[in-house]
Amino acid sequence: MSLIESKREPVPAPLQVGSQEPPALGLWEYMRPIRARWFLGCAVAVTATVIGISIPQVLAWIVDHLVGSETPTPGRVWAGGALITVLGLAQAVLFFVRRMLVVDTAATVEMTMRMRLYDKLSRMPVSFHDRWPSGQLLTRSTSDMSMIRRWISFGSIQSVTSALAILVGLFYLFRGSWLLGLIYTCSLPPTLLVLWFFIKRMKKLTRRSQQQSGDLATSVEESVQGIRVLKALGQGENALDRFTDESAELMHTEIDRSKTLGSTFVKTSLLTGATMAISLLVGINEVANGQMTVGALTAFFATTAMLTPHVERSGMMISMYLDSKVAMDRHREIMSEPSGERVLLVPGVTTPVPGSEAGQPGSDVLPSSQPYQQAAEIRFEHADFSYEGSPTPVFTDLSLTVAPGEILALVGPTGCGKSTLLQLIPRLYSLTGGDLLVDGHSVADLPLPDLRSQIAVAFEEPILFSSSVRDNVLVGVDRASKTEQELDQIVEDALRISASDFVSDLPDGVHTLIGEEGMSLSGGQRQRLSLARAIATRPRILLLDDPLSALDVKTEEAVVGMLSEHLNQTTVVITAHRPSTVALADRVALMQDGAIAATGRHSELMSNPDYARLMSLDADIVEEGDAPWHA
Ligand code: ADP
Repeated sequence: MSLIESKREPVPAPLQVGSQEPPALGLWEYMRPIRARWFLGCAVAVTATVIGISIPQVLAWIVDHLVGSETPTPGRVWAGGALITVLGLAQAVLFFVRRMLVVDTAATVEMTMRMRLYDKLSRMPVSFHDRWPSGQLLTRSTSDMSMIRRWISFGSIQSVTSALAILVGLFYLFRGSWLLGLIYTCSLPPTLLVLWFFIKRMKKLTRRSQQQSGDLATSVEESVQGIRVLKALGQGENALDRFTDESAELMHTEIDRSKTLGSTFVKTSLLTGATMAISLLVGINEVANGQMTVGALTAFFATTAMLTPHVERSGMMISMYLDSKVAMDRHREIMSEPSGERVLLVPGVTTPVPGSEAGQPGSDVLPSSQPYQQAAEIRFEHADFSYEGSPTPVFTDLSLTVAPGEILALVGPTGCGKSTLLQLIPRLYSLTGGDLLVDGHSVADLPLPDLRSQIAVAFEEPILFSSSVRDNVLVGVDRASKTEQELDQIVEDALRISASDFVSDLPDGVHTLIGEEGMSLSGGQRQRLSLARAIATRPRILLLDDPLSALDVKTEEAVVGMLSEHLNQTTVVITAHRPSTVALADRVALMQDGAIAATGRHSELMSNPDYARLMSLDADIVEEGDAPWHA
């Protein structure tokens, strides 16, 4: 094993699927796997501190008995120096050992917390992400975590050792001279009062600063994502102004923090300086009166020189504690949000529920996904749904069955609830009443990983990752279980079915790198890659939310034709506008006023005046939009 490998902390074991929401853990619980090492680190640091604070006592003995004896010799002076050096070295080695013991383990806790947070975020319903700005989530998984790591590896141990150093130091001071000890102790209450006001102010500023950092991260993220919209609408300047304002607010908060820290430091330094001056006057007097030896006075000043940084540093420690406490509160705020889903277990942190083996699927799971295996049946039974906080339901008492292998087109005026209905199937949102069954199993009872592994979705607004076309298409495929040839075949099939023939014209074919959100591709091309990605997973249920809107009619027809030809083992629900798409579906469901108004083949429904009007309106739009540059 190489030196680097041997020093590295083992990476936490992979997450496993459990069956119950774990409680929002506190820092102490997160530290469970490293508590022993933390305690050891603490013990080593305490030993080093006790050695350090005792050095002045040894110094006093050297001054009084070796150097200041009646027969001082160079040998005695060297012996005294060597003793102090050995103690100093021992202290340095112990501090190094403490660092080695704690730093890596704190990084492990940070990683575990980050993994749990990521797991939680990926399981939260979409309504949670509707409420939480992404920047807030970003800062919670980055800067907040680093803060907590610094507290575990440095702040917490430093606080313990500082408290101990102050206690032991005061004991030595009083032992040397009760009067000098009293003078030094009297300087502590005003110092603590200064620190008390410091804590109060810093608490407010810390929370404000962390909140503002989150808002700033949200602004950056939204501006980068919406860069094209901002540029197209000439809003670049406005976005910059907004960003500048937010940056300025954060800057002022940070300046306030630094000022508070600085002024506290000045006040505590003044108090310390005054105490030292008074102590010197009194101390010299005591030595002159023979009430104190020169060695004891030397030890007093050496001890206070060691104590003072601990007292002053306590302000920094308190600030660090507050930072990490706020970070921990913000972490728990997210972790205590109910997701109502099965969870990933972090080894050493979460206890599996008795009787539910981690990683074992529940008894009510769907059959696992196999290539083009039997399609699934979807059934809405008297379903109700309202968005959180919205007074009007999107639909009430909706019933609809999609037969296995069927292609069902959902048609209806904008805003009638087509996208919402699709999002309920993989439980991106949950029904507020009634039931939704997949193959007779209520989706509310199905473990999410099992449910979602059967389903693929393509949205109108495709998100592509900054990677190659091939990697984008294979995002949902279990690559480990397949050979490269099999993967190539999957990519080829998916691209063919989604009519993504444009890929062969890209500079490196399927290996062409595409930017974040596929910015170098046209809207229609991005939509088709997103469709190919959904097809590549060979789902039992394929949900297409207007994913072909940017395609010209002929390409759209070709894609829908391919879907019906090749995905006969997949149940497809597609929201559609154009008669050309609808005509190719096996059945059409017309959504109106929060319910399914009619179902049937396109030709049958044309006798329904509402449906006919909707189709003719959309046909007009298609005529206008039917141009090659839409592809
Ligand atoms: P469609 O797909 O038919 O155009 P949607 O399903 O997108 O309709 O929307 C149905 C209704 O739900 C609309 O009134 C819309 O404003 C509302 N809606 C959609 N998404 C949300 C959301 N995240 N939060 C609250 N209301 C929403």
